[in-house]
Amino acid sequence: MRVLEGRVARKQFVRIMSISILLAASTAFGAVEPECKEWFGRSKLKKGDSKCFMACSTLSVDLGTYFCTDRCDELCRPQVDCYQYRSALEKSFSDQAPDKWLEPSEKSRPWNSSEKKLVAAAILKLPRSLVEKSIFKIHRMSVGKLKTNQASTMNNSIALYDAAFSSPVPLERVLGHELAHVFWNGMSVTDRKRYEIAANWIRDINGDPTFGRDPKTATEIDGTLMPTEDFANNVEYLLFDPLKLKKLTPSLFGWFRTTLGAKFELGGECAQSNLKSE
Ligand SMILES: [Zn+2]
Repeated sequence: MRVLEGRVARKQFVRIMSISILLAASTAFGAVEPECKEWFGRSKLKKGDSKCFMACSTLSVDLGTYFCTDRCDELCRPQVDCYQYRSALEKSFSDQAPDKWLEPSEKSRPWNSSEKKLVAAAILKLPRSLVEKSIFKIHRMSVGKLKTNQASTMNNSIALYDAAFSSPVPLERVLGHELAHVFWNGMSVTDRKRYEIAANWIRDINGDPTFGRDPKTATEIDGTLMPTEDFANNVEYLLFDPLKLKKLTPSLFGWFRTTLGAKFELGGECAQSNLKSE
């Protein structure tokens, strides 16, 4: 759950989900010479970026890389098919309320195309590993029971409320938090246990969790209530305010970097792509 002001306890929605990979990576990159890959890598240009080809074509070359500007087309091509990626994403939108939604008083409404575009663009900025790891549905709900609530997640259903579209908090941050809940739900029991150990959660004899760290190390206070909330808050901060996470809990920051990889960051290679129909 993500709210504009204050945070509230949320129920635990834990369900082990099957992991599915939405897309297969393209293999077109294989033909490029290693020296050109290295030359391109040094440039810090981003694959899939609309300015990549032009910038690549004007990069300086030397005797060992003089032919590399001829490889810019392949070097700048995203390693995923962004059209396919976005098309798969579009299938995640649902006009219905999720089954057995936690708040029966909350009503769904149909998506309009501009909202869908905003949401898709926001998700494309997030790390693909966060998005592709799970199957999820995004539902458009009107006003949340708690009016300032921007989004909620139950199992693999994410509800976005009106507040998500009028908030100063960027949509990608709201969605990053909710997708972290879905990600958590898809993690194995063992992986969740690993997180709980790293984050110093203690389970009592009944299996109920207690926050074992100093509460001041929580990125958000509602993270002290439940491991899934702690995890979602920390993934959100890892993406949007990593320095704060690092400062509050350096060891957990290190755990995230080791577990999710240094490339778990904003700026997906399809972030600037458009659907052909647009
Ligand atoms: Zn949450």
